[in-house]
Amino acid sequence: MNFLTQDIKFLHGVGPRKAALFNNELSIFSVDDLLRHYPFRYVDRSRFYKLSEITGDMPYIQVKGRILQFKKIGTQRKQRLIAIFSDGENKIELVWFQGIRFIVNKYKVGVEYVVFGKPSLFKGRFNILHPEIETPEQLPPPEKMGFQPVYHTTEKMKRGFLNSKAIQKIIFPVIKKLEAGVPDTLPVYILQRYKLMNLTESLINIHFPKDSKALSRARQRLKFEELFYIQLNILFQTNWRDKRFKGFIFKKVGNYFNTFFNDYIPFELTNAQKKVIKEIRADTKSGKQMNRLLQGDVGSGKTLVALMVMLLALDNDFQACLMAPTEILANQHYETLMSFLGKMNINISLLTGSTKKKDREIIHNQLQSGENQIIVGTHALIEDTVQFKNLGLVIIDEQHRFGVVQRAKLWAKNTQPPHVLVMTATPIPRTLAMTLYGDLSVSVIDELPPGRKPVQTYHYYETKRNALLGFIAKQINEGRQVYVVYPLIQESEKLDFRHLEEGYEFMKQVFPNFKISMVHGKMKPAEKNEQMQKFVTGETQLMVATTVIEVGVDVPNASVMVIESAERFGLSQLHQLRGRVGRGAKQSYCILLTGVKLSTDSRKRMEIMTRTNDGFEISEADLKLRGPGDLEGTQQSGIPFELKIADLAKDGQMLEFARNTALDILEKDPELQESENQILRLQLRKMRTNVINWGIIS
Ligand code: ADP
Ligand code: MG
Repeated sequence: MNFLTQDIKFLHGVGPRKAALFNNELSIFSVDDLLRHYPFRYVDRSRFYKLSEITGDMPYIQVKGRILQFKKIGTQRKQRLIAIFSDGENKIELVWFQGIRFIVNKYKVGVEYVVFGKPSLFKGRFNILHPEIETPEQLPPPEKMGFQPVYHTTEKMKRGFLNSKAIQKIIFPVIKKLEAGVPDTLPVYILQRYKLMNLTESLINIHFPKDSKALSRARQRLKFEELFYIQLNILFQTNWRDKRFKGFIFKKVGNYFNTFFNDYIPFELTNAQKKVIKEIRADTKSGKQMNRLLQGDVGSGKTLVALMVMLLALDNDFQACLMAPTEILANQHYETLMSFLGKMNINISLLTGSTKKKDREIIHNQLQSGENQIIVGTHALIEDTVQFKNLGLVIIDEQHRFGVVQRAKLWAKNTQPPHVLVMTATPIPRTLAMTLYGDLSVSVIDELPPGRKPVQTYHYYETKRNALLGFIAKQINEGRQVYVVYPLIQESEKLDFRHLEEGYEFMKQVFPNFKISMVHGKMKPAEKNEQMQKFVTGETQLMVATTVIEVGVDVPNASVMVIESAERFGLSQLHQLRGRVGRGAKQSYCILLTGVKLSTDSRKRMEIMTRTNDGFEISEADLKLRGPGDLEGTQQSGIPFELKIADLAKDGQMLEFARNTALDILEKDPELQESENQILRLQLRKMRTNVINWGIIS
């Protein structure tokens, strides 16, 4: 049946103008696309609910009953109206913040009404905010009303007369046509095994649910399908990649590794570091190309792991490269490697955007001749002019600044792809990791080096800023160093920039005896480095900066992180910034300064930050607060993140299940050759026209 692939412009009530809106605004071209534009909520007018049936997760519902009493609460300026509403058995509060006088005049105590709205939980009790109220006589009988779908539209669409109601009108006859049946997109055996609703029924019920049970089954099926195909795609490609590319074999642990381990390692490895090194060791001698993600909270010691794995590469006559997202960080890695390995006679170079042309040529030559063994750098390493004699290992630090495409470019730097280790400092929620990095094996450093004191975090209002100054002075007089960070948001860069400079001037006035560094993104790299270096060596005691110091910077003597306008940062960013302190043996502090007026979300973020230091917990909370689309790294990831129906914050179990199902199928039929799996093949092929093809990149 070709109905599904038909252009929407031929549908009744669409035409070229509206079709163009669908195309441009929502990327809806075919009937199939339109059917996959699921409602984002429903209005359930199919029946009257009892108040005793209300639960936390409900669509809009209707209840029949009477108002027992009106109460006005609050001051004249911030007033709200509460009506106690009863269905004869239980009570619920109806709440209004606006139009209070109108409501009180219009509705009467004791009269029977139908109340319509979405119940929400507030302080342990259910209420309905701004409900619609009608008398029963005004309404058609419930069986005539049913569930009504509500669709996302855009402002432009609304202006072109494509609001939710209009979309509903367009979809309704399509659904009628669907009743003849459409070919399923999942194999029958999967539908049967997991008792999933078939596609035809699911599409019908997702748009016009028969009842809430049918809706919930339709949602289950469509969520499963969505997550399953993402996983199947990733795993299928990964299989294919593993088969196509052999991996270099790092046969032995040799002199470099052993000498470092026996003579130069400055501290005992943590058990977690040991475990990860073992995992990587196993990968690199397996004959398969390693693609591994190393997750470890800030300060967990990923750099040392990177260093030791690079020595492993050197022991087997390969070159290694370590790539960082910023020049500051690349510099710092270079310094760290030099200080750890300085006595070992290893040729290490640094290549960044500000490397002089002459030096650059020398480095290029040394990389090609193999004289250079370890190269540290920024994006400059990706350039085609950078050629290696025998690159065996690529380590990418702070992954969230790198995309899939960049990763892939590094693969091409040898006759067969080098091993790749991706290190992230921002722990990623499991569901996101499975989706974003589903093609990578995962190692986790779940332990901090011993002797660390957890950073103490406090939230203050900006009005208390002056009280902080004494504390800062005290810490500096005790020999510590202090960061003060200002936000920098693109739209208002000028404004924030001024704040930074004002902050700098302010600090200079308050602390005439202290020396201050200032770093921001608009500086020339050389100047930035100089300022940074002064702080690293302790020449300056205060560092006033924007978030350029967010990742990686390691100054163990710094013990205070003050974050100005903290409400303007995301959770993972706050966590990253906090990770800049607490790296030494002394107690460290993180002070979050915010305005007095805070949104619920901002308040929540401050609360989470002061409660926990656990990066994984924070990343889960971040995902719940912001949704996956906004999380750092997802935009550049190259994987489509607009899930249509599944929700990575809520559907973790389903995702796990979908991934296992995909694994299961691929284990039995890795090439998807079986006839029962032809549907899967077909769907993957369809997806691949939309999605970045991992195979091609690599
Ligand atoms: P991150 O994982 O955030 O990149 P780093 O690699 O910068 O962390 O390490 C943080 C600090 O901990 C550094 O000063 C590093 O020298 C130190 N460190 C790393 N491993 C250990 C260890 N096993 N014992 C003690 N200190 C360590
Ligand atoms: Mg690091």
